Amino acid sequence: MKLAVIPGDGIGKEVLPAALSVLDAFGFDMEQIPLEIGYGKWERTGNALTDEDMSIIKDCDCVLFGAITTPPDPNYTSVLLRIRKELDLYANIRPFSPLANVKLPCNNKVFDLVIVRENTEGMYSGVEELHKDVAYTTRVITRKGSERIAQSACAIAKKRKNQITIVHKANVLKSDSFFRDVCRGVANRIGVSFNEMLVDAMAYDIVLRPERYDVLVTTNLFGDILSDVAAAVSGGLGLCPSANIGDRYALFEPIHGSAPDIAGKGIANPIASILSVRMMLQWMGCETEAEILKKAVDSVIARGIVTPDLGGSYSTKGVSEAISKNISVLKTY
Ligand code: NAD
Repeated sequence: MKLAVIPGDGIGKEVLPAALSVLDAFGFDMEQIPLEIGYGKWERTGNALTDEDMSIIKDCDCVLFGAITTPPDPNYTSVLLRIRKELDLYANIRPFSPLANVKLPCNNKVFDLVIVRENTEGMYSGVEELHKDVAYTTRVITRKGSERIAQSACAIAKKRKNQITIVHKANVLKSDSFFRDVCRGVANRIGVSFNEMLVDAMAYDIVLRPERYDVLVTTNLFGDILSDVAAAVSGGLGLCPSANIGDRYALFEPIHGSAPDIAGKGIANPIASILSVRMMLQWMGCETEAEILKKAVDSVIARGIVTPDLGGSYSTKGVSEAISKNISVLKTY
């Protein structure tokens, strides 16, 4: 097993080493290939992600990713979008359910939902034009892209409540009525029941009634935005992991960004990154280790060993060390 390790920028450089130390606590025989990629590299060398970086990544089985800074500069192309496209990581799986003992900002409802976000097209297709007085971003929704994301959502639903919610804005956007129709067809064919929500109403419901939903399937930009809403009601961005899955490769990363406001202070919450390692373990078929990791995280939170975003005073390293120690104890049982 060959793992590309990409810390990226800002707090990515803090949470990724923390996550790796937790992975190391399991003692897997895994070759780790560290790579410098991102805005910092662009500032230093003029290139954020080289073709050679890409071929090294393609020589690995999967990627553990920290976070990157993507400046609002039309001359800069997001490296993450390029990696997702070139590795064809079409399914972005983002689970949200509040962890025990985490104070929630809106309500204390128990919920467990998964956002399945199309990850290679939509508004992030890269089809853009910037003129003096007008700018265009073309939203590309293909049958192939919609079918395979609907299939991914249905496959997840089959292991849960056998139901998906198709999230769209089909009342306004033709591309979304196309997406919705393809999703309906896939769900019918596979035998998964479905309902539908307009994306604006979905954002509202995630805040007020998240317990009504299980698996949501949606397009790229909508999934991106809804994820941050779901993160807020789940206790914060510092807790939410994700998996980017394709047919050949996979990439695991927290859903948060490089958090320049807290970068360099050693206080970023590493749990989102650590739970991304858990998703990687599940992808590898290591269910026992994934379960141990979750128990170790829960127990550390229960003991109040948390970073300032959760009201604690522990450092990134303090939290990850406590989780690693817990794993070493739990492994022996
Ligand atoms: P962000 O996710 O970096 O931060 C939003 C807020 O959440 C900030 O207040 C930050 O301090 C807090 N936060 C995020 N992660 C945290 C953690 N682990 N622990 C504690 N607090 C945490 O979003 P942003 O500020 O809008 O974006 C910053 C940069 O990150 C931008 O350049 C953006 O393009 C990039 N970005 C990258 C990714 C990615 O790498 N996948 C995702 C989103 C944003």
